[in-house]
Amino acid sequence: MSQPRINLFSDTQTRPTPAMRAAIAAAEVGDEQSFADPSVNVLCTQAAALLGHERAMFLPSGTMANEIAILVHCRPGDEILCDRSAHILNLEGAGPSALAGAQVTGLPGERGVFTAADVAASVRDPANRYAPQTRLVAIENTANLGGGTVWRLDQVEAVATAARDNGLLVHMDGARLMNAVVATGTSAASYGALCDSIWLDLSKGLGCPIGAVLAGSADFIDEAWRWKQRLGGAMRQAGMMAASGSYALAHHIARLADDHANAQRLAHGIASIPGLACRIEHVESNIVFIDVSAAAWTAETVCAAMAERGVRLGAMGGRIRAVTHLDVSTAMIDEALHHLAELMETTPR
Ligand SMILES: *Cc1c(COP(=O)(O)O)cnc(C)c1O
Repeated sequence: MSQPRINLFSDTQTRPTPAMRAAIAAAEVGDEQSFADPSVNVLCTQAAALLGHERAMFLPSGTMANEIAILVHCRPGDEILCDRSAHILNLEGAGPSALAGAQVTGLPGERGVFTAADVAASVRDPANRYAPQTRLVAIENTANLGGGTVWRLDQVEAVATAARDNGLLVHMDGARLMNAVVATGTSAASYGALCDSIWLDLSKGLGCPIGAVLAGSADFIDEAWRWKQRLGGAMRQAGMMAASGSYALAHHIARLADDHANAQRLAHGIASIPGLACRIEHVESNIVFIDVSAAAWTAETVCAAMAERGVRLGAMGGRIRAVTHLDVSTAMIDEALHHLAELMETTPR
């Protein structure tokens, strides 16, 4: 597939900017798995401070960050509570059960956000040997399939308190944590302080080619290193990629506000196109879900027709998902809206 002119499929579609490529080219490197790569060490120090934890670890992907955290926190037979829409429950090949032997139970949250009452109602009696042992609560911030929903700090606080009251650990899947930080003005460290482990993805809105950083206590990171080694996540001259991460932390966080403004612009535009609908009040960060149920079109036929016009969108569960990011300008949003409006005046072939 050739590169679409306007790529709203996902914020994973960003490509490194010339300045990021220059930082990659200039990176000092060494052997990452011997802690001898200076660029990785710098990134880990930055990430630990950013996320408010003792130490951090550089990983090839966010999926590995989730799975390693789960492997450290859970034993076979343990149970993880998360929202029913969570990435760990739906999009990681049943990794928690396949790798850690842990059962994942989905809570009935609202667009990816569940409550302390949901946790309290679901936690099992530790004395009951028939039941799984509830061990971990996993929060996804922002909630991807929820539509980029932002967890406010008080919501995390309430859930974390319920977790601690029941002897549970708290993990945050912060693939898009910095979107939540920019949307709320709450620091990443404030979220981090409520969690036993927390990570953020470098390869989503932050615009790096690959990578994620996972943070926790020194003991947690020591144990995480055993799993990183076992799973083949220990690297060599990874400083090339770590340098892109440090570059992104310095230059690509504040600009996430532009992505949020473009998502708002898109949502408002969609709402005025006959046949399309969008709950503007549900657009909290950089993800927009578009409802086509009032049109002669389906999500799939719209995506196919828009692809022919050079605009890539994603069909997801009967709706269209559009994600704004570094490589999507305001002019591109207007152009995408123009094509959508034109398309809705026609009928599918
Ligand atoms: C993308 C994503 C992941 C996985 O991250 P990768 O870097 O793609 O492996 C995990 N959780 C959420 C919420 C995500 O959006």
